[in-house]
Amino acid sequence: MTAPYHCHEITPNQVELSSGEQISTRTVICTGGNAPHPIIKDLAIPHDRGRILVDATFKVTGSTNLWALGDATLVPDVTGGELCPPTAQYAIRQGWHGAHNIVATLRGNPIRDFQFKGLGQWRQSKNIVEWQKIVDGKSQDFSLDSSGAGST
Ligand SMILES: Cc1cc2nc3c(=O)[nH]c(=O)nc-3n(C[C@H](O)[C@H](O)[C@H](O)COP(=O)(O)OP(=O)(O)OC[C@H]3O[C@@H](n4cnc5c(N)ncnc54)[C@H](O)[C@@H]3O)c2cc1C
Repeated sequence: MTAPYHCHEITPNQVELSSGEQISTRTVICTGGNAPHPIIKDLAIPHDRGRILVDATFKVTGSTNLWALGDATLVPDVTGGELCPPTAQYAIRQGWHGAHNIVATLRGNPIRDFQFKGLGQWRQSKNIVEWQKIVDGKSQDFSLDSSGAGST
């Protein structure tokens, strides 16, 4: 019950609020959402819901030599989904792929669409940790109960 103060800093032993109040704790549960930098809305480039519109090669929509990728963008998922999700799994690979496409453009070589299906995701409910992996378009679930025993 600390509104309207923001979390200023989290250390291994405490949380400091923007009011200066310090709360001793070793456990912090973050439930806040995250969003792209608001500066995107002020840029003279196409954007939707605060994220830059690009094609699957990371060219900004309507441009020839402007590139964008990662969480700040809406990248079409050419593997069958609608959009690439804003996760590190995707952002890291987009970085490599974007570098390749920029170098290819400078050298006059063809560029490629970004294609990645995702490795899966962890989710936790009660005391069960589940790993969901998509293999060849099919979902496989792996579960670990609180004792660490696994099942599929
Ligand atoms: C709490 C949390 C947990 C997450 N857990 C996972 C996970 O388990 N697995 C997973 O795949 N993904 C996870 N993600 C998502 C993942 O962190 C992001 O998808 C990924 O970091 C996006 O990479 P990016 O390079 O696009 O953006 P960022 O990593 O956000 O990099 C953007 C960079 O730009 C810098 N920057 C911002 N503004 C400016 C400016 N004006 N001038 C210069 N530099 C600027 C920032 O400092 C930052 O270094 C998590 C995210 C959060 C917040």
